[in-house]
Amino acid sequence: MNVLGIETSCDETGVAVYALGPGGPDGAAGLRAHAVYSQIALHAEYGGVVPELASRDHVRKLLPLIRQTLAEAGLAVEDIDGVAYTAGPGLVGALLVGAGVARSLAWALDVPAVGVHHMEGHLLAPLMEDTDTKPPFVALLVSGGHTQLVAVDAIGRYRLLGETLDDAAGEAFDKTAKLMGLPYPGGPQLAALAGEGRPGVFKFARPMTDRPGLDFSFSGLKTQVLLAWRDSDQSAQTRADIARAFEDAVVDTLAIKCGRALDATGFDTLVIAGGVGANQRLRARLQALAEKRGGRVSFPRPMFCTDNGAMIAFAGALRLQAGQHNDASVRVTPRWDMATLPAVA
Ligand code: ATP
Ligand code: MG
Ligand code: FE
Repeated sequence: MNVLGIETSCDETGVAVYALGPGGPDGAAGLRAHAVYSQIALHAEYGGVVPELASRDHVRKLLPLIRQTLAEAGLAVEDIDGVAYTAGPGLVGALLVGAGVARSLAWALDVPAVGVHHMEGHLLAPLMEDTDTKPPFVALLVSGGHTQLVAVDAIGRYRLLGETLDDAAGEAFDKTAKLMGLPYPGGPQLAALAGEGRPGVFKFARPMTDRPGLDFSFSGLKTQVLLAWRDSDQSAQTRADIARAFEDAVVDTLAIKCGRALDATGFDTLVIAGGVGANQRLRARLQALAEKRGGRVSFPRPMFCTDNGAMIAFAGALRLQAGQHNDASVRVTPRWDMATLPAVA
């Protein structure tokens, strides 16, 4: 069964084909092809995503990207057996582009289509290529819009353990980068700069780790960076040193809370997903944490940490396989609580 996945929740157009069971390469399950078109350049001059421009660009890019992905998979459009699309959360106009195309294709081909929760897509991304990791586990979702610790009792059964009370981790990276003059979107560049920074030259707080609980707060860190940067010599080395201290503070804070979440649930497996999951220092730190506890950790490849169509194809394939799909109306859910999703199987 070939499932076409479509992601258009924000500023990346993502398309992929995931094959379930027989029908995949050599009859195996797996990703057959995937492509992402990023709108970063389009939004750069505004310093953030402009929703209407995002919607229009998805309209321009989605069909060519579907054609390209099918060609790479060696498939004709008639070979699609099901369609999965991001139905929320995200920008309403952007979501509607993906949902409209997905539903129309499914209608024309007379195949089922399912609306996928974007954060479930992120959450399941590590399982797409790591078949040894299975629920129950704790998931750390760290992206541009979310920072959540989720207890995954089964696929589709999610309990929110804690989340950010203000900025998301990725948002904190982007805003901190911006206030030290790095171009939009600065998160990955700030992380690269941190690699040249010396540890311990600057020291920032580990927010909300001095009290029990699994919630996060990252907006105060940004202010600490602002003050440190303002009062510094603003040299290239200082910028790198501050970037390093910021990254260490975020990584430390996330690691402390992951340890607590494992304690609270009694689970021994940790799954990391979302754009900040591409951060090398975070990956190394959580790997060490899991090893020390005798547990395991699973990450997607970095390109599947940020937004992509593959994670939507995979999450949708699991739901379609369980017989779940939606009716033919084009409906999206810009705000959507993951705990309300039905269990799979
Ligand atoms: P959401 O999934 O919550 O709707 P989003 O889709 O915009 O948000 P993602 O695409 O998952 O978010 O991730 C993008 C975020 O990841 C950005 O904030 C970016 O700065 C951050 N990010 C990407 N790579 C790195 C890295 N190496 N280190 C730190 N942050 C990173
Ligand atoms: Mg994005
Ligand atoms: Fe995302």
